[in-house]
Amino acid sequence: MITFPRQLINGYRAFQTQRLPTEQSRYRELSERGQSPEVMVIGCCDSRVSPEVIFDARPGELFVVRNIANLVPVYAPDGGTHGVSAALEYAVQVLRVKHIVVLGHAQCGGVRAFIDKIEPLSPGDFIGKWMSMFVKPGEVVEQRPQETIQDFATRIEKASVFRSLENLMTFPCIQVLVDRGKLQLHGAYFGVSEGSLFVLDKATREFRSVRESQPSP
Ligand SMILES: [Zn+2]
Repeated sequence: MITFPRQLINGYRAFQTQRLPTEQSRYRELSERGQSPEVMVIGCCDSRVSPEVIFDARPGELFVVRNIANLVPVYAPDGGTHGVSAALEYAVQVLRVKHIVVLGHAQCGGVRAFIDKIEPLSPGDFIGKWMSMFVKPGEVVEQRPQETIQDFATRIEKASVFRSLENLMTFPCIQVLVDRGKLQLHGAYFGVSEGSLFVLDKATREFRSVRESQPSP
């Protein structure tokens, strides 16, 4: 017999009795008017890195795409089926989001599979093929001398954010809106053990702790 996970039923009941009463009018309004989130988040599937939890988001506030290692592919109008590109198209052309945040994180299994060069998990090798988009043609990604495997993993986790930001700009509609100042692209990195958030400073290409920075106006 197939049973729906009890954990989810209990979770829904908690939502129904605790959160829903405070959000009911908002849900009704969102139902009638439709969604109009200003922020899109591209995050990892990892169960520890839920954007709605990290950013304490309410219904209708975040338009989220999650995939292995928070990767955005290069713009490729080749007739293929591109899930991330479809979500980007909707977010940018229909919702007119003002911000796209690429959210990387510590202990990313997708990055670890990539740097450990694991054997394919299935004949399709979907993770291997997906992660291969991280490497540009002719580029070599290797552990540096003196670099621990942990530091190497962290470097690649952050590099996945840079790569996605770079690839976002290959989408003509995104490039146009960024150039016009109507869309901003951001990078962020979540430290799982401490629950810490780091935001990319594009000028220095460093991730800065939000705790250390000034409160936003
Ligand atoms: Zn991950």
